[in-house]
This record gives sequence, structure tokens and C-alpha cells, in this order.
Amino acid sequence: MRQPDDRSLGMDRAISRRDFLDGARVALTGSLAYRWLEPAAWAEQSASPVPYPPALTGMRGTHDGAWEVAHQVRDGKIWDDGASVDTGETYDLVVVGGGISGLAAAYFFRKSAGPAARILVLDNHDDFGGHAKRNEFSSAGRLLIGYGGTQAIEQRQNWSPVARGLRDELGIDTEKFFTAVDQTLYARHGMGQGVFFDRETWGQDRLVRGGRGNPAEGPVPPDGWWRDFARQAPFSESARKDFVRLHEDRTDYLSGLSVEEKRRKLRSISYKDYLLQYARVDPQVAAYFQQRTHSGWAIGIDAAPASAAGRTWPGLQGLGLPAPEPAVPADPYIFHFPDGNASIARLIVRALIPAVSATGQGMEEIVTARLDYRRLDDPQSPVRVRLSSTVVRVRHDGEPDRAAHTIVTYVTGGKVFRVKASRTVLACYHSIIPKLCPELPARQREALMFGVKAPLVYTNVLLRNWRAFEKLGVSHVYTPSGYYALMFLDFPVTLGTYRPSQSPEEPILLHMVRVPCAPGRPRRDQHRAGRAELLQTSFEVFERRTRDVLARALGPGGFDPRTDIQGITVNRWPHGYADFGDPLTDPDWPEPERPWIIARQRFGRIAIANSDAAHEAETHAAIDEGHRAVQELLALPS
Ligand SMILES: Cc1cc2nc3c(=O)[nH]c(=O)nc-3n(C[C@H](O)[C@H](O)[C@H](O)COP(=O)(O)OP(=O)(O)OC[C@H]3O[C@@H](n4cnc5c(N)ncnc54)[C@H](O)[C@@H]3O)c2cc1C
Repeated sequence: MRQPDDRSLGMDRAISRRDFLDGARVALTGSLAYRWLEPAAWAEQSASPVPYPPALTGMRGTHDGAWEVAHQVRDGKIWDDGASVDTGETYDLVVVGGGISGLAAAYFFRKSAGPAARILVLDNHDDFGGHAKRNEFSSAGRLLIGYGGTQAIEQRQNWSPVARGLRDELGIDTEKFFTAVDQTLYARHGMGQGVFFDRETWGQDRLVRGGRGNPAEGPVPPDGWWRDFARQAPFSESARKDFVRLHEDRTDYLSGLSVEEKRRKLRSISYKDYLLQYARVDPQVAAYFQQRTHSGWAIGIDAAPASAAGRTWPGLQGLGLPAPEPAVPADPYIFHFPDGNASIARLIVRALIPAVSATGQGMEEIVTARLDYRRLDDPQSPVRVRLSSTVVRVRHDGEPDRAAHTIVTYVTGGKVFRVKASRTVLACYHSIIPKLCPELPARQREALMFGVKAPLVYTNVLLRNWRAFEKLGVSHVYTPSGYYALMFLDFPVTLGTYRPSQSPEEPILLHMVRVPCAPGRPRRDQHRAGRAELLQTSFEVFERRTRDVLARALGPGGFDPRTDIQGITVNRWPHGYADFGDPLTDPDWPEPERPWIIARQRFGRIAIANSDAAHEAETHAAIDEGHRAVQELLALPS
């Protein structure tokens, strides 16, 4: 439905351009639902016959075409062998899922089995990397690289020797980020954090400088910022007083409990309940924090435990909890390639299939290397990556304990194929595995279905410049109640020949985070509801919401969505973060009873990886699980 303000938002312009490009693109490949680029960039890419998924814009992440077959599997469709074509291929290893876990599994297997080992990686997306997704844009001939998912190398000090070893072998020296990332660029322009209050919730649209999230959200304002902030925020008098009290008061809101009891209590109640029932703040203060946990926890404060607030959020400072002794000094949040951890995925693929790029070795060259996607599935190469291929069935060729092979059936381009493998790693989402392998023991199938991945959206917006941000003094904006919880200007990373935007006159990428939730329900129910919402939301709705919030938040700084927005890519992740637990409802299982441990047991020649197997939404965990799965298979006789 067209909204009255579509013209002022620039929807009319984009739609006419989009329609034209859609038609052109569909004629070219016959496979893409939506595409939108500046005409110059479009012309350049259309002239290229080589498919290059990172440069596609519009709806990315789990794009249309990637999920439909998997949903047929979910809904019980059976693909029997009689209906599939035998490709005649036999592999030493087939990996289902080309995310970092699956790619790492391929890497570790080849390292042990030798360079002649024949490996096939199958993934349902048109690009490899899973959540580690690269988004490219072009503005006036200049390349801008963004990340559509996995943002950064987190907890680099805590990576296992295995994961750290892979990082080293790929040539990633995290120390280099200290010089690569310009940590003071925005501060030098007088910019910091801000909060956008929307009129639907707060009675008026108002952008207020200040506010504090986590270090990933930009420069931290000095202590005491909350007084000035509370004066300017559209709070009621009572909320204003409580907001300041929450930051300054040293009352022990859990007095009478021991330190251990307090810790347990904070894990068992939501931050929202803590604020309302223990700190007894005005409900507007809780509403202010509602979306603060969206980025890290993929849920609002109604379902995130109070312990998530840690030491950096207000209200816990009077509890007398001892500060944890850091084993190593805390790092700044800087371990970020321009395309996030897609660079890790690209480095692994480059190591497995060197023909994809003559350059691209090491952490600097990989940033701008344009990989040749035609070489991913090259019959000459012992390692092959086959994209747009959804695996629908994995079974043993005989009894699981005695079979020499598995048969892996997949659908690509509407056709069904099958290959043979000596060993198979399922590095895909756990929830689909019981449908791929109904022979698994019932207890394991049930455990595989336990976790619910969190849905998220990472939207990248190509902006002509960042003058409005500079004028308003913000580089990072939190919205307590808006469609997007967060938006921030790109990390300024100079690596290899890549140069980030350095002046407000230059084009830049704006990163926006949305987490669809259904506040008030248990965490996993909210994820299910959010996922359903995501798949029903068209690109047009995302585009309108994106333009609307930018116009309202930045309009006072001169931002005009009709001319300042040059491109939009929405990375939709209905199956985003791996389930890492719901402390409010989950029991404290003994280790062998933990669902993810029961879920990941080897079954004959099939081993199970993915970050789901670690119960952790972290890159290093995905790598560790790929490694464990491969070790389990290598122990089997050939
Ligand atoms: C938006 C977002 C941001 C994140 N940011 C960070 C971060 O900053 N740092 C960090 O460490 N971690 C981050 N993570 C967590 C991230 O999930 C892990 O770091 C890691 O990349 C997960 O890798 P994976 O291989 O386990 O899973 P995935 O990346 O999900 O890969 C699994 C692949 O298997 C495919 N697949 C599923 N079923 C089938 C099938 N039947 N046939 C074929 N293919 C199939 C999937 O489509 C997918 O491509 C983020 C996650 C998300 C969603």
C-alpha cells in the first residue's frame, strides 16, 4: 500500500529505477528477485558475464531462492532416489553448509587427508560463507565494502588453539587491526552516540546526543552524560529523575542476598523485571532500555537476563558484586574486516581452491580480491563449492555402522541430484537435520530440534555523504522503540588497497540492525514469531522503513532521503544467531544431558557441526565444531 509520504521519502524514484533494473536483471540471469543499484554501477556489472554475488543489492542474507526448497523439506516433502540424477561423483568428504563451520571442516579434512582429497561443499545460498556475508556497493566508481552478517572477530584472546591455528594459517594477524582501524575518526569530527526517540512512542521525533550502549557502538561518553541527556530526552518528570537515579544511586536493590544468590537472581530475572520490580523505575525508563539488548542478545530486555547488563549498564552498581578479574586486558572492538568475517570465509575458500583468485592471499590482499565464482565448482579442482544447492536427504548406503558411503541428495535449479561420499559433515542448521536424516535416533532428533536460531536483519545503506551525521554530532544512533534498534556509520578500516570513507563529503555505508521480536513472550517463541514476520516482509517495506527513520532522525541535519540514499541491501537472517540459551527458562543440565551435546553425536559416517553444535553464536565456536566433526570422521576406517 502506498503511503502519503512516499514521494518525500524517495520511494517513487527508487521504484521506477528498481522496476527497470528488475526487468533487466531477470532477463540476464532469470534468477534474481530484486536488484537495485546506481545506473553507473549497474551498467558496469551488467556488462560483466561473470556472476559475482557480493555485488548484488536488494534482498540478500537468506535471499529468495535460497529457502524455499528447505521449507519443503521442513514441511515433509520426500525426495526419493528414483527421482534424482546420479552425478557419478564420489567424494572423500561432502559438507552440507558452506558457512564458516562447513568451510573450516573442509579445510581441516584436507589438511589431514592431503591435497588430493576430494571434497564437495554444498550450500543453498548463491554465495558461500553463511552468515559471514560480503556486500559490495559502488558509488561514482568507488568500491564500498560492507558486511551483511558476522561482523567481527570476537574474543580473539579466547579462541581455542585449533581456531587460532586456522587464523594464523590464513595469515590473519589481529594486531594489524590496531593500525588498520581509525578509532578516533568520528570523535575528531565531534561525533558520538545518540538516541532517536520516535513520535509513535514518545510523542515527538527527537534525536538526543549521548546515551551509552557497548563499545561496539562507538565512542563512550564521559561519566555524568546522563544528566544532560535526561534533560533533553522526551521523558516524563518522574522518568527523568529515575533515569538519573538509576545511573548514580548506589542502593543495593537485592540487599539481604549473598553475592552468589545475587548472581543467580540476575540470571533468573529479566533486566526489565529488575528495573521495574527491584530498582522500581518509571516504566518509561524500562522502555528506554527495551531494545538495548537487541544487537548482542537478539531479544529485548523483557527476555534478556538482568545479568546481561553486566557492569556497564546502570542499576547494578550498588549490588557490591566484585569485578571479574580479567585474564587479559580488554580489547577495543576493532577486529573487523570491511566485509566482517566474510574475509575469513574468503581466505578459507582461497586456500582450498587457489584458482578462484591469483591474488587474495593474506588478510590485506583478500579485502579487495575479486574472486572468480566460475572456479568454485571446477571439475579440475579436488575441492569444489557448489552453491544454490539445497540438500534434501542424507542417508547411508547400507547399515549406518557398516556402510562405506553416504548418499547426499540435493536440489539445484529445480532439479534433483545425488552424490556419494565416504564421509559427510552436516554443518547446516540443526533444526533441518532430523528431516534430512530421519534414521537418527529419536532422542537425537528431538535434541536437534531444541534450539531456535534468532532472526536478525542487517541493512546496509549506501549514503552519498555523511554531512548530516556530522552536523548532528552522531555516528551511532540507538532507537529504543524504532523499527531498527541501531544504526551506525561504517568502521573506518584501511586494509591492503582498501580505503574507507574519511571525510563527511565522501560516500559511506550506514549499517542498521533490526531484530524482529514479540515482547512479553518467552525468548524462543519470540524468535519463531520474528522469523515468520521476516519472511512476510517485502523489500519495499524495509526500504520505506529505512528511508522513514533516516528522514526523521537526520532531517534536522539536512538529510534528504530522495538524494542522499544511493543503495540499500537488506540482509535478512530468519535463522541467525545460534541458540545460546535462555537463562530465564533453561534448566542447568548436567553436561551429557545438554540438548546440543546429544544433538551433535556422530551417526555412522555422518558427523554434525555448525555453531548450533557449540550452543554459541561465535565464529571461533563454528570453527571448533567443524574441527571436532572432522576428527570424529577421520577416526573411522576408510
Ligand atoms: C547477523 C549476524 C551477525 C553475527 N555477528 C557475529 C560476529 O560479529 N562475530 C562472531 O563471532 N559471530 C557472529 N555471528 C554468529 C555466526 O553465526 C557465527 O559466527 C558463524 O559464522 C556461524 O557459522 P556456521 O557455519 O556455524 O553457520 P552458518 O553461517 O549459518 O552456515 C550454515 C550454512 O548452511 C546452510 N544450509 C542450511 N541448511 C542447508 C541445506 N539443507 N543444504 C545446504 N545448505 C544448508 C545455511 O544456509 C548456511 O549457509 C553472527 C551471526 C549473525 C546471523
